[in-house]
Amino acid sequence: MNSNKQVCVGKTAIITGARRGIGYSIAQRLFEEGANVVLVDVDSKETEAAALKIDPTASRVLALTGDVRNRVDVQAVVGATIKKFGQIDILVNNAGISPKHDGVKACVATMDEQEWREVIDVNLTGAFLCSQAVLPSMRSQKWGRIVNMSSQAARTMSTIAGAHYAASKAGMIAFARTLAGEVGQDGITVNCVAPGRIMTPMADVAGAQANAAYLTRIPVNRLGMPEDVAGAIAFLVSDDAGFVTGAVIDVNGGSFMG
Ligand code: NAD
Repeated sequence: MNSNKQVCVGKTAIITGARRGIGYSIAQRLFEEGANVVLVDVDSKETEAAALKIDPTASRVLALTGDVRNRVDVQAVVGATIKKFGQIDILVNNAGISPKHDGVKACVATMDEQEWREVIDVNLTGAFLCSQAVLPSMRSQKWGRIVNMSSQAARTMSTIAGAHYAASKAGMIAFARTLAGEVGQDGITVNCVAPGRIMTPMADVAGAQANAAYLTRIPVNRLGMPEDVAGAIAFLVSDDAGFVTGAVIDVNGGSFMG
């Protein structure tokens, strides 16, 4: 990829879970790459503030409040995006939750069923609803990029994330591959990014000790930053990645090499 070239000029990108953390960094990066960016999250004030931080003129950003589990919210996001920008080219299914109890995951033996359902609902069903909703726009223009935010927890055993989280993130990979097979002929690619430990509010919940222990297993000798993930996304949504679909890019400093 030519690093001097903006890779998203004239494109419109929806990023879910974008008010902070990795999602915010992706929105910022794709904006810098020339895209119009739509930030979707559950907290209206913070989402609005995040959007204005990226583009104080608000001409190339849109902040929308929505719960990815809710089909009505998702359809409203699609409608508002098309109203402002006319099309949807890129979807990043980034919204996710990883519940902890005093910083520690629930084990399967004692996990609350409601917690299991909630994690699957947000992480996996949310990606399904959002992907389904953007397909008509992408298909009509014969070009689209969908990227699912998976996790290292989907690729190997995790001591930090729970089984519900790992299962949802593995499900996002299988979902992406099946969808990639269905929409490749329409010029749409569907890929996944699988981050390792990335320093965000979600990672903070596990505590400094867990993160320090993780660091000892990372060959590049640092924890990840949201910008590391955003860089991989910028490649996957570019024209240069047109022959990459159904792939998983590990962004983990080498802590897992699958
Ligand atoms: P974060 O908690 O900082 O951000 C997640 C965002 O998703 C939040 O802004 C939250 O409000 C939003 N969100 C949650 N539920 C939502 C819903 N139902 N509808 C809309 N938005 C919702 O976490 P992060 O670390 O930035 O994580 C972003 C993504 O990256 C998640 O999918 C996470 O699983 C994944 N990930 C994170 C790490 C890490 O170490 N931080 C590692 C691997 C994967």
